[in-house]
Amino acid sequence: MTTCYINGKYKPLSQSNISITDRGFQFSDGVYEVIAIYNDKFVDLNLHLNRLKTSLNKISIKISLNQSQIEKISQKIKKLNKISMGIIYIQITRGNQNPRDHKYKNDLKPNIIIYSLKKDFKKLDKLALIGVKTALYPDIRWLRSDIKSISLLGNVMAANFAKKKKSHEAVLYDHNNYVTEGNSSSIWIIKDNVCYTHPLSYKILKGCTRNKLISILKSHQFKFKEKTFSIKSLISADEVFMTSATNFIMPIVKVDKYLISDGKPGIFTKSLREEFIRAI
Ligand code: PLP
Repeated sequence: MTTCYINGKYKPLSQSNISITDRGFQFSDGVYEVIAIYNDKFVDLNLHLNRLKTSLNKISIKISLNQSQIEKISQKIKKLNKISMGIIYIQITRGNQNPRDHKYKNDLKPNIIIYSLKKDFKKLDKLALIGVKTALYPDIRWLRSDIKSISLLGNVMAANFAKKKKSHEAVLYDHNNYVTEGNSSSIWIIKDNVCYTHPLSYKILKGCTRNKLISILKSHQFKFKEKTFSIKSLISADEVFMTSATNFIMPIVKVDKYLISDGKPGIFTKSLREEFIRAI
């Protein structure tokens, strides 16, 4: 049985219900966070809690819990559900509103849920030894992908296209054939010993793993540029990888029918993954 924190109470997940008048259900009017727990430790907890605060501010949702209270609840959920490898899921919506109206009232009480899922990160460690295949998909999402919104239909369509193509992730590209990000990840290439990823803008989410990796790259004096790159540069890169809270640093060895280099994870990607895991 999984225990869920829901609006101040701890309940079994199966009894944790939200009203159909919830604006998250009606309008996707809410935000979320996913935080990994690896070998009993939270990964980049503060980065995720800061981003949650930023997402809430961006859509003007005010909550009564502060960051340290959210951290305490997350710790309790981790303990109650005995999670040493898994994720904490946090979702906050603007609250219930009846009758339904696009325009929100200012006095709504946000719905806050926090629960956990077990995740076999050791399986992903094994997958990282061989790398993953990806599928290209147009970035059909809205123009505020910087907000970690629960409105994920574009990402869901991309992810399921990738699934149909037996791929681990969809790599999204804009109308100029430039790569933006993955359906649930940041995308990186390495060319001539320089690491590239899309610059921060409304088009992408500010990945916490991206953030962490940038500090690792800087501390190792690895050349790094936040610069857009095309599909052509992607498939002719020396190494390609994706980063996310649930994949850490995952080598990409194939994009559609194109093998990246020799189709094996690159040496820099491998060592960056090891370094990332060491730093948890
Ligand atoms: N981009 C998108 C669209 C995502 O959904 C995610 C993670 O879910 C990321 C990037 C990577 O962000 P993070 O490293 O914080 O998990």
